[in-house]
Amino acid sequence: MFFIDPHIHMVSRTTADYEMLALSGVVAVSEPAFWAGFDRSPAGFVDYFRQLTEFEPRRAAQFGIQHYSWICLNPKEAQDLGKAREVLAEIPKFLSCPSVLGIGEIGLNKNTPNEAKVFQQHVQIAIDAASQGPSGAKHALILIHTPHLEDKLKGTRMILEMLRDFGSAIDPARVLIDHVEEHTIELVKDAGYWAGMTIYPISKATPARAVDMIEMYGPQRLCVNAAADWGISDPLNTHRTMLEAQRRGHRLPELLQVFHNNPAEFFGQNSKFAVKPIKVQPLS
Ligand SMILES: [Zn+2]
Repeated sequence: MFFIDPHIHMVSRTTADYEMLALSGVVAVSEPAFWAGFDRSPAGFVDYFRQLTEFEPRRAAQFGIQHYSWICLNPKEAQDLGKAREVLAEIPKFLSCPSVLGIGEIGLNKNTPNEAKVFQQHVQIAIDAASQGPSGAKHALILIHTPHLEDKLKGTRMILEMLRDFGSAIDPARVLIDHVEEHTIELVKDAGYWAGMTIYPISKATPARAVDMIEMYGPQRLCVNAAADWGISDPLNTHRTMLEAQRRGHRLPELLQVFHNNPAEFFGQNSKFAVKPIKVQPLS
């Protein structure tokens, strides 16, 4: 079984974790920019973006893993509009790095007006990125974080509304909305967006709940990740979800679709992403 981990914060993980991921079938990882556990200065963000685009791809390559990243100011630090202005000014030049797939993980944390403003500014950067490409180019891919627990439903609704306000400038097929749960997955999928489910030990979904959602809403436009970071988290929760699906009788083509081909299809909309979907031929 091959995996693409569509959401993992490798800057917080050890090199031994890269080896473990390679040994467990992970061929590529996608790392959104996020909160480090403490607030950084604008200069600290530039250093972080360099770590994501220069150091992590080399560390992953030692184990045959392709490392891709996403650039943004995380929603938690977006409360500071002065800092946001400085950090957002740095983003366009990193978007052209060979391993950067788009803008992310933007979104909301506590659903404040400042967070919403910075979310919209990020979306505008994604749209403006298209105007610098060949004419007719689509906006940069966007990866979105939805808030935790009691803020999730309201935050997801706010995010969908703000995206809708951009009208035809936003193509839902080029946006992945992450950390969906039972009460938000339908809103996201019905509006045509990709949805990400996060299997995280403290908050968010469990393997059994994630497989329930795959069964209820279908595997199309659905990705599974462990969002492993510096908190209590486990990169193998993606694999545990695959095992739960296998235990319930889901077969290889469907498992490959959810854990490898769906992320390959979504990320592959950016030609920098080099891992192609795997087609399984039935044995004759
Ligand atoms: Zn994350």
